[in-house]
Amino acid sequence: MKKVKFLDLKFQYDLIKQEIDTAIQNVISNSAFIGGHHVSHFESQFAKYQEATFCISCGNGTDALEIAIEALNLPSGGEIIVPANSFIASAEAVTRTGHTVVFCDCKATDYTLDIDALSRLINPRTVAIIPVHLYGHPCDMSPIMTLAAKHNLKIIEDCAQAHAAEYNGKRVGSIGHAAIFSFYPGKNLGAYGDGGAITTNDQHLAEKCRKLANHGRISKYNHEFVGRNSRLDALQAAILSVKLQYLDEWTEHRIVLADHYLQLLADIDQVTIPCRQTYAKQVYHLFVIRVDDRSGLQKHLKAKGISTGIHYPHALPKLGAYSHITPPPQTPVAEKLAPTLLSLPIGEHLSSADIEFVVSEIEAHYTIRS
Ligand SMILES: *Cc1c(COP(=O)(O)O)cnc(C)c1O
Repeated sequence: MKKVKFLDLKFQYDLIKQEIDTAIQNVISNSAFIGGHHVSHFESQFAKYQEATFCISCGNGTDALEIAIEALNLPSGGEIIVPANSFIASAEAVTRTGHTVVFCDCKATDYTLDIDALSRLINPRTVAIIPVHLYGHPCDMSPIMTLAAKHNLKIIEDCAQAHAAEYNGKRVGSIGHAAIFSFYPGKNLGAYGDGGAITTNDQHLAEKCRKLANHGRISKYNHEFVGRNSRLDALQAAILSVKLQYLDEWTEHRIVLADHYLQLLADIDQVTIPCRQTYAKQVYHLFVIRVDDRSGLQKHLKAKGISTGIHYPHALPKLGAYSHITPPPQTPVAEKLAPTLLSLPIGEHLSSADIEFVVSEIEAHYTIRS
């Protein structure tokens, strides 16, 4: 039976096997495991790619968020606004750094922060906002930066799903005060293990992040403050440097496939397709549709060899981790969307014919049903 995988990291590896193997061999032959050339080379290439001045690599995307928040030196206990529809890491880092999570509702169109809801949540205790460029679609950064300037707030872009995405022609990760990236294997730029980075245009902030991620150290055995150990392995850096050269090509491929989905799915009444704002270069980390009978459709597709995903099954305020918040956050759109979201397969391992097959099976499901 034909199989359409949700993600196929083996396929991607086979495309660039020679280069990856050489890069790994290089690191091992030189015993350059921690820090050094491979790491600094990747950092400078990635900063350039995201159009930011500085890049500080670290252990993973969640650490990157924690380090960025700490480095901003925000008043402890201050409120940080996070979207209700995201991966938990976006909120977790806020709690971990001693701040208060405030959940903001999202739009039913592109699923990112709802600016009106955001404005209503800002109060004298608010210290920062974490706009998440969810599924690869940039948040509407212009009004967010205006709110930040007006209320003296820091903006930390969560770009974990948005490598190469652009807002009005500008790469994400270069717009807020700081930004974070994840190189988790399944992300659009993924390592062969964990990895993360912070980007910023602020030199002082960059230096603070660099120290925080490396035991608060200024030089060997001289520690200015208590930091932590969060590093990107040189092996991962070398792998990421190889993959970064293909990211443009892979991103364009995702966009072509997404456009194909959008065109073919437009005629199926039972399916709501994702909206792409005019300011957005959406990089489709995920291609998320909405349907009322999600489990039925998911089951049908699975029977036909098509894997799908759910991102995310619960709005963050509905999780046990945040059930203590009183009064409960008002995030009706995110809560209403959660049971209807279905992520269809997308990625460099798929062809236009695969997309046509997926859509034909979605069509078949609804034809059989009606
Ligand atoms: C993956 C992800 C993170 C966390 O990244 P890790 O590298 O897994 O720690 C943070 N935010 C969002 C939106 C993510 O998708």
